Amino acid sequence: MSEFVAPSTPRILAVVNQKGGVGKTTTAINLAAAFVECGARVLLVDLDPQGNASTGLGIAPAQRKLSTFDLLVDEVAIGEVVQETAISGLYLCPASSDLSSADIELVSREKRSFLLHDALRQPDVSSFNLDYILIDCPPSLNVLTVNGLVASHAVLVPLQTEFFALEGLSQLMLTIREVRQAANPTLRIEGVLLTMHDLRNRLAQQVENDARDALGELVFKTTIPRNVRVSEAPSYAQPVLTYDGSSKGSVAYRALAKEILARHPLVGKVNVKGQGDGQEK
Ligand code: ADP
Ligand code: MG
Repeated sequence: MSEFVAPSTPRILAVVNQKGGVGKTTTAINLAAAFVECGARVLLVDLDPQGNASTGLGIAPAQRKLSTFDLLVDEVAIGEVVQETAISGLYLCPASSDLSSADIELVSREKRSFLLHDALRQPDVSSFNLDYILIDCPPSLNVLTVNGLVASHAVLVPLQTEFFALEGLSQLMLTIREVRQAANPTLRIEGVLLTMHDLRNRLAQQVENDARDALGELVFKTTIPRNVRVSEAPSYAQPVLTYDGSSKGSVAYRALAKEILARHPLVGKVNVKGQGDGQEK
């Protein structure tokens, strides 16, 4: 039986919610960019066949020679798959549409849930000198998402503040419990992130109150506002932090990075500006 192996660095976070359109990819891209602003070196693994994180970071389909599919299904070395992005210190494992057949390709593999876990623990990962790996999961609880959960230290769950937002959470929590029992006993929930939040909307406020009542400390203090600059940035192949660094979306994703880094400071990086003070001023 395989067991989760927990290296101290890089920290591995899976961005998971089986619902589509809740802000997983947006959060993966912009949290990655915010960590990099804080001095971290970050790898974003695109685990969604739609490849939105890859496109959003400026790696067009034609540029994706090797992809997460090759990493998982053909066990290609991670050093051959990882690409640099336009942002120094931010790397990408791109996805391609063939990842949608991974479910079928992997069904007969004995260790099918551990493929990403093993790939991210290949010795040549250390050559990238990473602090964080973020995994952008597809909108389902399939074998790809299970690979994301098995590979990770913790899960970050974006939750769009709308009616029914909390409905899908119990299924996700059940899956997390199953993954803990079968494969990754120390898998933590890093936090639930309220996304596309509109403070003027009373329903959104109600959803926030319900989420904080039900989940308590699990909900990040930082919330991400609905902000048009955030939704424009991918069409310019950029995180919002470089597209419009002073937008409300950028400010919020920086605050989220600082909230996480306050709990898990970057190792050996003492001069990180603003790290550890938790909230954006
Ligand atoms: P998922 O990966 O969960 O499917 P996305 O991150 O792709 O979700 O977001 C879904 C849509 O919502 C995208 O069009 C994205 O640009 C938009 N979006 C996400 N977060 C915000 C935000 N804070 N403000 C405005 N639009 C957002
Ligand atoms: Mg997505």
